[in-house]
Amino acid sequence: MDLNQQLNNISLKQGEEDIYDLIVIGSGISGLATAHNLVNNNYKVKILEARSVYGGRISKNENLANFAVETGGEEIHLRKSAYFQLAQSMGAEIISEIKHSVYFIEHPEKEEMITEDDFFEQFPQYDIWEIAEKEYDQLSFDVSIKDYLEQKNIYQQCGKFYQNLLGTENGTLISKISWKGVQEYDKLVEKSDHSMITNMSHYDVITKAFGDVLHLIEYNSPVSKIDYSDQKLIKVTIKDGRIFQAKQALITVPISQLKNNSIEFVPALPQNKLDAIKTINFGTSGKLQYRFKERFWPENFNSIILWDHDFGMTWNSSICKDKSKSNILTTLLVEDVANKVEDEQVRKQLISTFLKKLAKLFKNEKIPELLEDHIYTGYSTKEYIEGGYTTPNLHWTKERKDLAEPLQNRLFFGGEATSILNHSTIHGAYESGLVQTENILLSNKK
Ligand SMILES: Cc1cc2nc3c(=O)[nH]c(=O)nc-3n(C[C@H](O)[C@H](O)[C@H](O)COP(=O)(O)OP(=O)(O)OC[C@H]3O[C@@H](n4cnc5c(N)ncnc54)[C@H](O)[C@@H]3O)c2cc1C
Repeated sequence: MDLNQQLNNISLKQGEEDIYDLIVIGSGISGLATAHNLVNNNYKVKILEARSVYGGRISKNENLANFAVETGGEEIHLRKSAYFQLAQSMGAEIISEIKHSVYFIEHPEKEEMITEDDFFEQFPQYDIWEIAEKEYDQLSFDVSIKDYLEQKNIYQQCGKFYQNLLGTENGTLISKISWKGVQEYDKLVEKSDHSMITNMSHYDVITKAFGDVLHLIEYNSPVSKIDYSDQKLIKVTIKDGRIFQAKQALITVPISQLKNNSIEFVPALPQNKLDAIKTINFGTSGKLQYRFKERFWPENFNSIILWDHDFGMTWNSSICKDKSKSNILTTLLVEDVANKVEDEQVRKQLISTFLKKLAKLFKNEKIPELLEDHIYTGYSTKEYIEGGYTTPNLHWTKERKDLAEPLQNRLFFGGEATSILNHSTIHGAYESGLVQTENILLSNKK
């Protein structure tokens, strides 16, 4: 055998060894969950991750406080979810109904706080759930929250408030959110279905749950091309030119990365997927988290929604932590404000205005002096995330189903954007990992 033949044989053997059953693109919770399940079903799996860390939009900061601060997903929004169970089985202690905790709203007419219950009792004209209940069947998915407030002639009075309440929570502007879509989701959850882990972070949960597949991750490996033109093998190219081959591939990247065409598909994706990618809205989010010298809020303070302020939604991240733990509040920011605070000077200015507001609301003028430190985690500037999470779309049709549909039983699509009712959440992303596990296993059943 001449040298060339010998080299050919060697590279063929290496080539064969490098053929995976499945390549998972993205090491967020959805990708890791599928990889873990399939490795347990004896699949040979490779995980390609663009960044130098796993977890994606689940991340923690261990420097701000004496507990791990959730800089990405924080609350578990659905008790009856597989993720809730997974977290518990990994040792998470979860406070499910945050007992006796109080949601406050800034009083619309005076600089005071009022409980959410009292607010809706005193101002029923602003209770759009109550108003919409009677019209639910006639309401179209195309009506945004902003449109709805305008139709009821209350946008001028409470538009900013609803931006702070529903816009912020849903990760975008109320002009882009389907009001009926929000109510569909509300039907699923029980009132106050907000849970917090007290003794560990979501990052710790996924580290523990999927620790067995972390060594399969190839970091700093952004996928730039997926060639599925060959009927047998899919060729996945990463930025440095290396090619990985597999029988099947699962794509879990944030939808921003499909919208910006940073991954070339050969052949191009079918029209219904392209339409879905275009239609599903991806918001912009970031979290400002502050450490204070002492707790100036009452023990039961859960969160506050401001009536007409840039920092509309702030909650108590220390609520499940005893007094020996740091005193942390978190403000969620979306769209323009989230982008604005990336600039440190602007951020300091806005924080100062915000603290003066809190001083008035909590009737404690010392509050601005109690701030010790803060961090901002912006996701719009994080390469390969570039946004926050998907939002309850206007023109709600079947786009998420189209996105989640397997292609030729070889290309699979997961991640929070593919979950029909639980999108934009940790438990929805996890659920998508379970759904795609099933799809892949079924596709290989003889
Ligand atoms: C500020 C903020 C607050 C949130 N708060 C909550 C909350 O309180 N409760 C809740 O339930 N949910 C919350 N979420 C949403 C939740 O965090 C996400 O829905 C969930 O973590 C998404 O998981 P995923 O696996 O779908 O995607 P991701 O976690 O985004 O994982 C996708 C991975 O793909 C990688 N990637 C991207 N491009 C490429 C490429 N070309 N090649 C290879 N890899 C690539 C990314 O780097 C990333 O690691 C929040 C999100 C944000 C941003």
